[in-house]
Amino acid sequence: MKRALKWLAVVVLVLALGVGAVFYVAFGRNRPIVDGQVLAPGVETVKDGFVSAFLLDASPGKVALVDCGNDKQGKALLAALQRRGLSPSAVMAIFLTHGHADHLGGCGLFPDAQVYALQEELPLPVRVTHALRDGEVTGVGLLRVEAFATPGHTPGSAVYFADGVLFFGDSAGGSKDGTLMPAVRLFSKAPGQNAASLRALAARLQPRAQQVRVLAFAHSGPLDGLQPLSRFAAQ
Ligand SMILES: [Zn+2]
Ligand SMILES: [Zn+2]
Repeated sequence: MKRALKWLAVVVLVLALGVGAVFYVAFGRNRPIVDGQVLAPGVETVKDGFVSAFLLDASPGKVALVDCGNDKQGKALLAALQRRGLSPSAVMAIFLTHGHADHLGGCGLFPDAQVYALQEELPLPVRVTHALRDGEVTGVGLLRVEAFATPGHTPGSAVYFADGVLFFGDSAGGSKDGTLMPAVRLFSKAPGQNAASLRALAARLQPRAQQVRVLAFAHSGPLDGLQPLSRFAAQ
């Protein structure tokens, strides 16, 4: 019996180290996520453990979200709203970068919100009210949100552009050394397609490079300007 327990302990330890190693390989180089970080006027990071969502000013007293975090109870999101004296009904719209569970957790807390996702990502396990097409621009109050199809991490992965910030979801990440990393292979459906999507996005945005102030990622801190994406594309 004691022997069996010993072996069980060894197996659990090896599994734990294995999981730790996988996470280190996947996320170890990431820039840290900082809760409450303001990426541009009207764009705030909400850190929900290992993932982030973003709070965007839409009009006075109204906001939009990019993704809704991992936590079904939405503690971090609700706290961020509360800091502004806002209730969940202030969330007018949610823009989903893709359908992985760590980005959909708190969506059910905002029944009044319009929910947007790319057509190719549907159906999702949460309520989606609008299917978006590549290039589509959505108005939410004073906010304008442009959707870019970047298939690869998932078939309907979207990058959104609003207020000078590009929101990549899991289609890319920011490393500690300031470079843009493609989607984590291990968790991606088609890594080659993801890299091609990032190159195509860089080419599309090059004429508007001046407008791109910040690159925002779901599992890492941000990078400045379009350049990290352009440099990735040039590799
Ligand atoms: Zn994902
Ligand atoms: Zn994710």
